Amino acid sequence: MDQKYYAGIDLGGTSIKMGICTETGQSVRELERPTPQGHYKDVLEVFQEMIHQLVSEAQISLDTVKGVGVGVPALLDIEKGYIYEIVNLGWKNVSLKEELEVLLGLPCYVDNDANTAALGEMWQGAGVGARHLICITVGTGIGGGLILNGDIYHGAIGLAGEIGHVTVRADEGQRCNCGKMGCLETETSATAMTYYGRKIAEAGESPPLAEVLKNTGAITAKDVIDVARQGDQAAQKILDQVGYYLGLSLAQLSNVLNPEKIVIGGGVSKAGDFFMEPIRKNFKKYALSKVSETAEIVPAKLGNRAGWLGAAWLVHRNVSNGGSLS
Ligand SMILES: [Zn+2]
Repeated sequence: MDQKYYAGIDLGGTSIKMGICTETGQSVRELERPTPQGHYKDVLEVFQEMIHQLVSEAQISLDTVKGVGVGVPALLDIEKGYIYEIVNLGWKNVSLKEELEVLLGLPCYVDNDANTAALGEMWQGAGVGARHLICITVGTGIGGGLILNGDIYHGAIGLAGEIGHVTVRADEGQRCNCGKMGCLETETSATAMTYYGRKIAEAGESPPLAEVLKNTGAITAKDVIDVARQGDQAAQKILDQVGYYLGLSLAQLSNVLNPEKIVIGGGVSKAGDFFMEPIRKNFKKYALSKVSETAEIVPAKLGNRAGWLGAAWLVHRNVSNGGSLS
C-alpha cells in the first residue's frame, strides 16, 4: 500500500503552523508563517501556499495527502466546520470547511484549538497510551480539552472542557472575561500570577519582585516562579495558592471523569516539578484515593506543535472510520 499522509493546521492570531505527518503521526515536514490580518480569504490563500510548499519539500504527491485538519481559536459549529466568530482576526460567519475543501480539493475537518492541542498530546505527546485525558493549558487564560474514550468530548454545543471557568472563589476574587467572579482562570492563569505578583511587589512583601518591577516596569509569571524558587516566601504563597485552586479543580473533575492522565501545558508548565508539585499535593488531597492513584499529572510535551498534530489527527480519525469524503 502507498503511504498516506495527513495535514494539520494550527491557526493562531499571530502565526499559522502547518505540518504533514504519516498515518502514525510522525512529522514529515513543518512550517510556520505570520497570520495575514486582513480578509479571511487571505488566510485561506496562505493555507494553500503552505500546503503546496510542504508537499513539494517533502517530495510527496498531493494525492497522498488524505485531508487537512484545522484548529481555530473560535466559537464554531464543529460538524459543519462553520465559524461564528474569531474575535482576534475579525472573522465572522465563515464556512471554513466548505471553502477550504473547494480551494484545496481535499477533505477538511475543523475543531477549536484547545481541542486540537489536547488531541495532539494524546496522539504524540504526554498523553500517549491514554484514552481518558484532561488537558489544561495555563497561559494568558486557562484552556482545556476533554478526551473521553479516545476522542474529544464536545458537549451539547461544543463548550465542554471550559475548565478555566470553573468557579473557585465564588463572589470574591477577580472579575473574569466571561462576566463571572473568581473563575479558575482569574486565580491561576499567567495573567493572575502577574497580577498577584505585582500586588506583593507594590506592597513591599517581596523585595526581589519589587526589584524586578523597578528594573523592568513589569512582572511576569516566570518572575514569580523564579523568585519563589530562590526562596521568596511571598511569591511561594502565590504558587501555593495557584496549586491549591488547580489541584482542587482537577480533583473535582477527576472524581467525575476518572481520567488516566492530566496533561498540563502552557508557558508556566516549563517550570516542571516546582510548579507541578503543589498541584499534585492538592489533587491527592481532594480526589478519591483510587481516582488519584489512577490519574498521572504530567507536563505537556509538544509545546506549540500539539495544535497542528492534533488537527492532523482529525483526518486520521476520519480515514480510520472509513474515509468518507464528506
Ligand atoms: Zn470565567
